[in-house]
Amino acid sequence: MDTSFYSDEEGMPGEQRQKYYNEKIRWIVEHAYRNSPAMKRKLDQADIKPSTIRNERDMQQIPVTTLEEIIELQKANPPFGGLMTVPPNSFTRLCMGMGTEIWPMSSSGIMHEMVAKTYYAAGVRKGDIMLSTIPFHPIYSGWVVDAGCQRLGVTLIPAGWGNTERTVEMMRRLKPTVYQGIGNSLIEIIRKSEELGYNLRRDFPLRLAIVGGEKLSTSLRSSLENDYGITIRDSYAVGRGAMAYECGHGTWKHVPEQILIEVVDPVAKRQLGPMEPGEPVVTYFDDRYPLLRFATGDITYYTDEPCACGRTSRRLAGWLGRIGEAIKVKERFMHPKEIEGAVRDIPEILDFQVVVTQHEHRDVLTFNVELARQADRAKVGESLRERIRTVSTLEIDNVNVIEHGALPHDHKRILDTRVWD
Ligand SMILES: [Zn+2]
Repeated sequence: MDTSFYSDEEGMPGEQRQKYYNEKIRWIVEHAYRNSPAMKRKLDQADIKPSTIRNERDMQQIPVTTLEEIIELQKANPPFGGLMTVPPNSFTRLCMGMGTEIWPMSSSGIMHEMVAKTYYAAGVRKGDIMLSTIPFHPIYSGWVVDAGCQRLGVTLIPAGWGNTERTVEMMRRLKPTVYQGIGNSLIEIIRKSEELGYNLRRDFPLRLAIVGGEKLSTSLRSSLENDYGITIRDSYAVGRGAMAYECGHGTWKHVPEQILIEVVDPVAKRQLGPMEPGEPVVTYFDDRYPLLRFATGDITYYTDEPCACGRTSRRLAGWLGRIGEAIKVKERFMHPKEIEGAVRDIPEILDFQVVVTQHEHRDVLTFNVELARQADRAKVGESLRERIRTVSTLEIDNVNVIEHGALPHDHKRILDTRVWD
């Protein structure tokens, strides 16, 4: 196994690593205070002088920023809500995040570095051809993949998702060596290729898959590795624009040096110790988007124990779930508020509940709706699909019309019945 690192900083010994982080923390807090009006307001309101934040432990004095806050800030003060330190035309890509927030790709390149590290640690090298099934518009995910490939000199096939037969045809003709996307999409591609008479091991040179975007079940991982001989490396998109990666020694995910991850108590937002499950909070060492303590809403835990690969970074257990009602479905976050806003535009729908289930490793999205008596069921179903597609890019699988009063008075807007093994 090739044990080299993408960059020397991955192997910094403990003391040097601590010094590196202290310097980065002092710089980014000061920089954010001076250049990002939204971050300055946050620190001022909490009565914090940037010079008093000296290390990771001090960081917990700074209030977290949630995705909802970012969306509100950007709505009140478009386009960036005072979060960025430079104007829109200073970025290389202007994208939406997986909610409705604007999340530009920074040309200062911290995302490029994080993704390149992720791919390199997985075993991707210059000369590889990577097929990605991640969407390339309008959200930023695809561009993140593109950034990593450009950094490493890897050829990218931006296949996207939606037409599996076409993807198999691209694989047959272009011979990718690496797959990138969600694990469940890969198994669908493999099944389709078998249906079309191909044998994965014999007909395709695919050796490695970098998966992420949803929780990878142990059964799926072992099926891909043992039945099809593909090396699987899981990655964890922690929050927005950040990445933690596997190195081949177990399933812990290394935190790259471009971000600081604290794991905190989801209510008190105080730091937790190793192995204590809590919410990962991300600080980005990005001069253009110096976001301090972004509260991801995820659940994970970490270890600072050294890894056999020689990398000395903190490692995360990966994505263990979501806090509160917002959930990840079909590789995208679904917020109850976002869905409610979309449904409100259809007056014939009196009440509704979204149910997320799983069938053969695929998420299934069902809307149970109570309709006004005179409503045209087919028409309402079509409008609903269209609205949800517009606000969230999600495709609804089923719309069920239910009896009046069938939903309990205080029902959850989104019911997630998926079980993870
Ligand atoms: Zn490692």
